[in-house]
Amino acid sequence: MKEKRNTMQKELTYDAVLHYPGHPSADDVYQVISSKYKSISKATVYRNLASLYSDGKIGRVISTDGWEARFDHRTDKHSHAVCKSCGRVFDVDVSYDSAALDKAVCMEDGFEITSHELIFEGICKDCREKEKENEKWN
Ligand SMILES: [Zn+2]
Ligand SMILES: [Zn+2]
Repeated sequence: MKEKRNTMQKELTYDAVLHYPGHPSADDVYQVISSKYKSISKATVYRNLASLYSDGKIGRVISTDGWEARFDHRTDKHSHAVCKSCGRVFDVDVSYDSAALDKAVCMEDGFEITSHELIFEGICKDCREKEKENEKWN
């Protein structure tokens, strides 16, 4: 019976990521699920997210600057841009030779590169517009 419950909770977690607009943090996912299923614990949601990620069912955006790691319903190879003002994460589809980049990185001590992630930082359109508004009134 416990097994069944675990599977259901994992499915709920997967479903929440799939339907979340954008890239939710673990806490965002927890908020969505706990609004309907009050008994689910934060630890369970976090554990399921980690497990879904290692199963390759969801993507993850690693944190570069102290913000919380985000999860992604997309699992295909793509990059991300992060707004430094509001923390929103955007998909970036940039085509480049990924293997060539790995090869171009020279590491000492025989370190072999197996993957990398590109994360772009900037200010999103909404935040830029808000800034402009503020300037007008100051
Ligand atoms: Zn922003
Ligand atoms: Zn993404």
